[in-house]
Amino acid sequence: MGVPESIEKRVRQLRKEIEYHSHRYYVLDDPAITDEEFDRLYKELEELEKQYPETITPDSPTQRVGASPARELREVRHSSRLYSLDNTYSEAEMREFDTRVRRALDIDEVDYYSELKIDGLSIIMRYEKGKLVLGATRGDGTTGEDVTDNVKTIRSIPLRLREPLDIEVRGEIFLPKSEFDKVNQDRSEKGLALFANPRNAAAGTIRQLDSREVSKRRLDAFFYQIVEPRGFGLETQEQVISMLRHQGLKGEPNGRHCASLEEVLDFWESWRERKRELNYAVDGVVIKVNRIALHDELGYTAKSPRWAIAFKFPAEQATTRLKEVALQVGRLGTMTPVAELDPVQLAGTTVKRASLHNFDYLQERDIREGDIVVIEKAGDIIPQVIKVVTESRTGREKPISRPSKCPVCAGPAGKTRENDVALRCLNPGCPAKLEKRLSLFCSRGAMDIEGLGEKMIARLIEGGLLNGPADIYSLTKEDLLALGKGIGEKTADNLMAQIGKSRNNALHQLIAGLGIPGVGTKIARDLANYFGSLKAFRNASLDDLMAVPGIGNELAESISSFLLNPMVGEELEIFEKEINAHEDSLQREKPLKGLSFVITGTLDDLTRQEAEEMIVSRGGRVSSSVSKRTDYLVAGENPGSKLEKARTLGARVLNEKEFREVIEGEST
Ligand code: AMP
Ligand code: ZN
Repeated sequence: MGVPESIEKRVRQLRKEIEYHSHRYYVLDDPAITDEEFDRLYKELEELEKQYPETITPDSPTQRVGASPARELREVRHSSRLYSLDNTYSEAEMREFDTRVRRALDIDEVDYYSELKIDGLSIIMRYEKGKLVLGATRGDGTTGEDVTDNVKTIRSIPLRLREPLDIEVRGEIFLPKSEFDKVNQDRSEKGLALFANPRNAAAGTIRQLDSREVSKRRLDAFFYQIVEPRGFGLETQEQVISMLRHQGLKGEPNGRHCASLEEVLDFWESWRERKRELNYAVDGVVIKVNRIALHDELGYTAKSPRWAIAFKFPAEQATTRLKEVALQVGRLGTMTPVAELDPVQLAGTTVKRASLHNFDYLQERDIREGDIVVIEKAGDIIPQVIKVVTESRTGREKPISRPSKCPVCAGPAGKTRENDVALRCLNPGCPAKLEKRLSLFCSRGAMDIEGLGEKMIARLIEGGLLNGPADIYSLTKEDLLALGKGIGEKTADNLMAQIGKSRNNALHQLIAGLGIPGVGTKIARDLANYFGSLKAFRNASLDDLMAVPGIGNELAESISSFLLNPMVGEELEIFEKEINAHEDSLQREKPLKGLSFVITGTLDDLTRQEAEEMIVSRGGRVSSSVSKRTDYLVAGENPGSKLEKARTLGARVLNEKEFREVIEGEST
């Protein structure tokens, strides 16, 4: 059959356009079209490729993410050995390096090319006829691992070069700082060990077996080396960088030609502090003799080239006192210990708090309250406590124990999976777990707000519109529209209508949505039937709760402490205002709604529990003692003092037969 000529042509054209715009976006950081326009091109290509699978080529932009995970990473031998770099922290050693180079070459001045040293991990890539055929890690320098599928997911790496070259290039892949923060945030919430720095995060990511997972983390890459550069007529490192750029391979943009060592030192000095402004971690400057012909003359030691050296930036550390360890509860209930510090200057900011990761970390390092500790910013980002200055101990420091309770809801703390490092609040309704709580609130068994699914909830939280379920009732259409992308008039109207509708929901739906520990839909119904109104439920005392049939003392206590939480109290107050507390439909189904019963003495045909159930299932309430609010006293044999009291307070007294009539609805 074959593919029509016109289709082939369109596919080729789409690929070209997509490549061009990807380059503008990911490499030049200068998009020429909007995201929507880009998505349209991409979708069109995807569609055509689906209809005509014969047109798919491995370098098509749609083939960045592989379909299935690999079983293991294949080993690859490098075409030539990958050396490591000599490095130093001292200016004196830099001067020695420069002297050695000039002496060996027997010249007075050498010019260098200085590049920022990215703290990521090296990557080797091979293109054949301009097409990406291999991406490999450094490994031991001779043999690395084939990570081609994963490298392809990095959007700034071209699958095809500008020219059909056979070329091998080397560079560094890294996780941008902003991504690193996100990944760690996510890991912390999932209870996984945090990545100590962006380099570990990048290494952990690129060696994954499933490229779909890799593509979720926005890795990026800079290139700085061409193997056999003279084959392409290149004479200096400066030309190497510019040729890479011409072929669409992004380089770190701040590299610079330096006419002498003095300029190199100035360059280093100027980036020592400014590196913090970059969105990638930089741990020093790499200095390379600019003229490639001189590289051969200088040669290599067993480990590294004699024509290059890394001049590292000092690790930024500070020493301060750890005042106390606070507990933070994350969105998913993860409890993280955080060090509250005496404020100290570190890498350009005043640091008052530092991460302690988790309780294992804390115990391994024996960190105590009152300790003098060393803090450091991992990859310039998160201040963390590295170690204790034990010599400064006075003996008054306080060891820290693992919490047994959640600081927010007092629910039990524990690990949800055996090999989790993080402790979590195990109460599913913990107010700290915002997203979960909102999903529960909107779910079918509860307030049933269909448009507020998990994705929408996440967006509203992100947009700062929801800090709890009560906020749903102050959302406006304008709020929703202001979120932009994907939320148009229609969606907003729809959502507002659904929220509006939920204002008339039954009380049991609201109670089920609150996330009270141990209260599911069935208990929510019992509670709603018993109390009849949100107001009565809100003000229920522990005794009131214990009187509800089917609710044991333990559950009553847990409900009571939930209701007493000030945060919950505030929320319920809003619900009382915003949600219709008197549902007519419920009243019709529940003829005894709002009526209060007390049972005394022994009934003939019914046990006390059966009687109670008959009342509660019809919406009435049963109390254990007679009060002014008591409407009916059901009196069996040997009634006792309650009968007297009911009479004086004006409650109607029913015998068993009359009680049945009331229940059957023949008389109320
Ligand atoms: P180190 O791992 O500290 O011994 O430093 C050597 C590593 O620095 C190399 O293997 C590269 O992965 C990395 N690196 C980062 N930026 C550059 C650069 N501009 N030139 C050479 N190597 C670099
Ligand atoms: Zn909790």
